[in-house]
Amino acid sequence: MARRRTGPTDTVKDLVYQRDGGRCARCGSLHRLTIHHRVNRGMGGAREPWINQAHNLLLACELCNGWFEDNPKSSYEAGWKVRRPQIPDEVEVEYADGRVYRLTPDGGRSAVVEAGR
Ligand SMILES: [Zn+2]
Repeated sequence: MARRRTGPTDTVKDLVYQRDGGRCARCGSLHRLTIHHRVNRGMGGAREPWINQAHNLLLACELCNGWFEDNPKSSYEAGWKVRRPQIPDEVEVEYADGRVYRLTPDGGRSAVVEAGR
């Protein structure tokens, strides 16, 4: 019996891996990497078209993946998690290199330059 697909496609996983340079977005680790959802799939989450698109996903090591769940406040502030009704397009993400990026659904990533710098 076929299981219903609820995660991102292999193509999208590949985009995320390339975008994030094969490193955990939070700590830069190269090991034990998984795909982290910024907005949780949650109840009926799979109905939202962006839930499994690249801008809702981050490459994260297993340790950080657990850390996000244990430290929601810091995770929301850094954009590693996004709280509904915000959507992933609206929230920038802090990476391990200390820079802040805006993510796009097609797997793009652009550094945010803050006004006044
Ligand atoms: Zn990590």
